[in-house]
Amino acid sequence: MKRKVIIIDAHTHIGYWPTLSKTQNDLIASNQDFNISYSLVSFDGTEFKDDSNRRGKLVSQLEASKKCLKFVKENKHFGMLVWIRPHLEKNYEEIEQFIVKHREYIHGLKFHPYCSRLRVSDPRLLPYIRIARKYNLPILVHTASDTYSKIKYLEKVASLNPDITFIAAHLELLSDNQNALRALKANPNLYGDTAWVNIETIKKAKEIGVLDKIMFGTDNPIDGYETLNNPIYQSYFNNDIKLKKKEYDNLMYKLAMKIYNIKKEELD
Ligand SMILES: [Zn+2]
Repeated sequence: MKRKVIIIDAHTHIGYWPTLSKTQNDLIASNQDFNISYSLVSFDGTEFKDDSNRRGKLVSQLEASKKCLKFVKENKHFGMLVWIRPHLEKNYEEIEQFIVKHREYIHGLKFHPYCSRLRVSDPRLLPYIRIARKYNLPILVHTASDTYSKIKYLEKVASLNPDITFIAAHLELLSDNQNALRALKANPNLYGDTAWVNIETIKKAKEIGVLDKIMFGTDNPIDGYETLNNPIYQSYFNNDIKLKKKEYDNLMYKLAMKIYNIKKEELD
C-alpha cells in the first residue's frame, strides 16, 4: 500500500483579493487538488492602500483575526497565524485576549514589514514580541530586499530575543537568498520558509548546513487556484533536487509541526 505523502503549507492567506470567498474557495480547492495535508493561514492585514487595486478592502487586525478564526473553525486541516498591524493599531491588549480565548487554533503571529511600512526592529513591535514570548508563539516575518523588509532587521531582532522563534518568509524575496541563509546559520532561533524560493536555494542551504531550518510555504492562493501549479512549487512536490526522505519530510512537514506546534491529530 502506498503511503500518502504529508505536506504542510506553512504560509497561506485569505483576504479581499478581491473577495474573501474567492480566496477561501481557491485555498480549499487547490489544497485538495495538490494534496496539501494542512495549512497555516493568515488574514491579509495590509495597513495602507496601494495603487494595485488588488485588495477589495483593508480590515483591522481584530476583525481580520475573527474572520480567519471563523475560517479555520469551519474547515478541517487549517490553523491560523494572527497578522498584526502595529503601525496604525494600538489595541494589542485586545489581540492578547483574542489569543488567550482561541489559543488552540492559533499557531503564531504574522508580521509584514512592507505592507505595514514598518521595520520589524521598530519599537512599535515590542508589545507583540512580549505576547509571542508570553504564549510561546513563533513569529512569521515577511523578508525582502526593500527598505522595510531586509533580513538584517529580522536578524537583529532575533539576536535580541533568543528565546523567541522567528521565521523569515521568502528567505529575503528579490535577492539571491544568500544573506538569509547566512542569517539562518548565525541565529539558532531563526528559521525560513520556501514561499517564492527557487529550489536551487534549498540545494545551497544543504551545502552550508541549514536545510533543517527551512520549511515548505507558498503564499497560496496569492495567484489564485493555480498558485501551486507554479514551476517553483512543482519542483518541491517532485523533489527535483533529490533530497533524502528524512530531509524531504523535514522540509515538507516535520519542521512546521515542530516550530508551529501542530499536533499529529490535526493532520488526520
Ligand atoms: Zn505571504
